Amino acid sequence: MAKHRIGIIGLGKIALDQHVPVIQANANFELFAVSSQRGIQLDGVSHSFKDHGEMLAMADLDAVAICTPPQVRHAIALEALKAGKHVLLEKPPAATLTEVADMKRVAEETGRVLYATWHSRHNRGVEEARKALAGERVRRLLITWKEDAHRWHPGQSWLWEAGGFGVFDPGINALSILTAIMPETVVVRRAELMVPSNKQAPVAADITFATARGEGDLRAEFDFRQTGPQTWDIEIETEAGRRLHLTEGGTKLAIDGKPVVSEASEEYQGIYELFDRLLTEGRSDVDDSPLRLVADAFLVGRRTLVEEFHE
Ligand code: NAP
Repeated sequence: MAKHRIGIIGLGKIALDQHVPVIQANANFELFAVSSQRGIQLDGVSHSFKDHGEMLAMADLDAVAICTPPQVRHAIALEALKAGKHVLLEKPPAATLTEVADMKRVAEETGRVLYATWHSRHNRGVEEARKALAGERVRRLLITWKEDAHRWHPGQSWLWEAGGFGVFDPGINALSILTAIMPETVVVRRAELMVPSNKQAPVAADITFATARGEGDLRAEFDFRQTGPQTWDIEIETEAGRRLHLTEGGTKLAIDGKPVVSEASEEYQGIYELFDRLLTEGRSDVDDSPLRLVADAFLVGRRTLVEEFHE
């Protein structure tokens, strides 16, 4: 079968760290074109554009991966779908839920594949946790997602604008795991959003969840000010007394203290393997449940102004 000819829109950190090398290592894809507002060009990629509209006009381009900040993704995705291209979206799929619904509608109308990626879900620990929790009831949940914004997102001013998500940019990765593994629906009951006085988006957040059975002890703590060890952990205890500990973003899983999974992260390899299957089968995959939890935290959240933050 012919390779999928793919282009990347937005050559920022994640495009260069993951999408470019992973596409180039996947025999089912050809990195056919890139579009970079700053005019970045890549060795071995024959077509480079500053204007993504010119890239989308190429008849022999099959698909695009949109790796821009979320605020501009909806408009670019619609342009791409209407130009007849299949579309892969970096997470979060858009800045709002209605934008996601609109992209789904246009993908259906144009008959193109739309894939909203959630990279953290591609760790095997996540699938093993989902299996271990199937049919169980969760008594206790603690998500601790604490990282240093200076280390992982230096100079990314879009993150701190309205629609930039702030600490929910990494936090939504935890929520993408949560929505994949929980045996019952979780809703946001309360949230406390700590917003720096010079920014529009929160630098930290505490969330209390509930299930249909009530509130229990279900919480998340997100913080972008973590120096020293970085923490991307989820602890779960079931009513039957089973204890799951997913650590390092889902790459490690222990059940009742015994290591079950410990693997290097191959998240983006998993993303492009799934995209190949979706393209082959002509099927879209758009799950907005992690974005719904973020939107709900913003809807019910109390805002507390905290000290200025400088990225
Ligand atoms: P970034 O380094 O700021 O890169 C985003 C790139 O998008 C910019 O470098 C720019 O590239 C392009 N861009 C910026 N504004 C644009 C606009 N108005 N219209 C079109 N393109 C624009 O950000 P990033 O860290 O790569 O994050 C991008 C997305 O990937 C975010 O949604 C983030 O959540 C997700 N992600 C990031 C990471 C990570 O570790 N950083 C991990 C997983 C997922 P050009 O100048 O080349 O056009």
